[in-house]
Amino acid sequence: MIASDFLVMSKNGLYCKAGDFYLDPPGAAQVAVISHAHADHAAKGHAVRYATAPTLAIIKLRDSSICNSISVAKGYKEAFYINGVKLTFYPAGHILGSAQVLMEWNNARYLYTGDIKLQEDPTCEAAEFCKADVLITETTFANPSIKHPDPEMEIRKLNDIPYPILLGAYSLGKSQRLIALINRFCPGKRVLVHYRTEPVNQLYRQFGFNPGNSELYSRKRSKEAGIDSVYLVPPLTFNSYLRAPGVVRLFASGWDHLQVKNGTGLFISDHADWDDLLTVIRLVKPSEIWTVHGSGVYLKEHFRNSLIVNILA
Ligand SMILES: [Zn+2]
Repeated sequence: MIASDFLVMSKNGLYCKAGDFYLDPPGAAQVAVISHAHADHAAKGHAVRYATAPTLAIIKLRDSSICNSISVAKGYKEAFYINGVKLTFYPAGHILGSAQVLMEWNNARYLYTGDIKLQEDPTCEAAEFCKADVLITETTFANPSIKHPDPEMEIRKLNDIPYPILLGAYSLGKSQRLIALINRFCPGKRVLVHYRTEPVNQLYRQFGFNPGNSELYSRKRSKEAGIDSVYLVPPLTFNSYLRAPGVVRLFASGWDHLQVKNGTGLFISDHADWDDLLTVIRLVKPSEIWTVHGSGVYLKEHFRNSLIVNILA
């Protein structure tokens, strides 16, 4: 039977009382289950954290202090228990190591998706869904008017730019996906990467997800590559190169407001759009949907006669 308070939104994010643990808490917690290594899901300071091995490796790369706490690695589909709640990770297709968390308790199944992506991406494990009574999902782009364009069409725009390109992207997940896309669809371009992105690339390779050819940025290499160069940089660096002369600036994101004004937009998102979310709901077949991150109002309206939709946050 579904317990309406199995997960509650506390001051420190989603809390499971039966298991006494938090899901992706934004602040330090005694026990945290982490869906993936993006900073807004993997906060610092937990005493005990459960995650997949790649997620823990990425967190460790960014925060060596986790060595002072307990990290428990669990593989996909490897069930484990926290205080009587049975948990199982399923691939979320978002970035390397990203996981959905299936929680089983008192004859009900609760699936927390974390961030999910259905679009093809060779740089991470493909999303896999299981049936659940309650689907707890992000609603970052849960709006019928949002449809992410085909990433192949988007990345091919680079081929039409006869200038060096400064490409802004998050260093974890998005950058590796872009390297793979450029390798495949823009073979004339040379990818140069920022020194802060390279260690993440190395981790991806270590876990068997080689993003493809890229070189560490240097002035010499950039000069050699000339108009074929695509210099991939994290957002902070991107914003500090405001006036780079003769360089076309692009920021890769699913968000409108992050696109460079008056420039070419590069709409490549690592989240589910409206249609993808409906696909997920068809696959999971929940009788209730609980929403977090973003706005659940469109889902609530869409399913008003067929499903219970609770907006948790
Ligand atoms: Zn994320």
